[in-house]
Amino acid sequence: MKIGVLGLQGDVREHQRALETAGASPVLVKHAAELNDVDALVIPGGESTTIGKLLDRFALLDPLRERVASGMPVYGTCAGLILMAAEVVLDEFAVGNPHDAPHRLGSMDVAVTRNAYGRQVDSFETDLDIAGLDEPFRAVFIRAPTIERTGADVEVLATFEDRPVLVRQRNMLASTFHPEMTGDARVHELFIQMAAA
Ligand code: GLN
Repeated sequence: MKIGVLGLQGDVREHQRALETAGASPVLVKHAAELNDVDALVIPGGESTTIGKLLDRFALLDPLRERVASGMPVYGTCAGLILMAAEVVLDEFAVGNPHDAPHRLGSMDVAVTRNAYGRQVDSFETDLDIAGLDEPFRAVFIRAPTIERTGADVEVLATFEDRPVLVRQRNMLASTFHPEMTGDARVHELFIQMAAA
């Protein structure tokens, strides 16, 4: 199984390293030919507006949406989740324009609010209990979105302050936090297992 990391913008290297720690040999995906060649894909965190624009410019948006719709396993972290979300909504704490990530896949039945912790605190860490993991996972949140709504077939694998932070819908996994920052590759292992199943 060949796992790709979308290499347009964001913490691409950190995800490559985490996948390597988890036993995979990830390849970079920047063009449609590379996308055709992978069996699964990680969409890193970064700036969802920028990654979306680049997906559009590199003619990757439609091909990627089609691969995801046809069952390719995909894992989006933070900005990656925002790109996967069907809906972006505003809440009272949000900073900036919630609608300025127009180029999205919109594949996953969740609604997110961008930068939802923005006015309270930009970045923070916390220990999460994650379904399927025996020990707590140290999660890093960086200008993170919140998940405000999940569809009926979206499975919630972890929550923080009563909101989902790790979710799965069929072939799609997504987190509001960054699991690639701490050297603990267990969430990437979960994704590899999911992709191999
Ligand atoms: N705040 C970013 C966005 O809206 C996401 C931050 C991240 O990926 N760490 O796209």
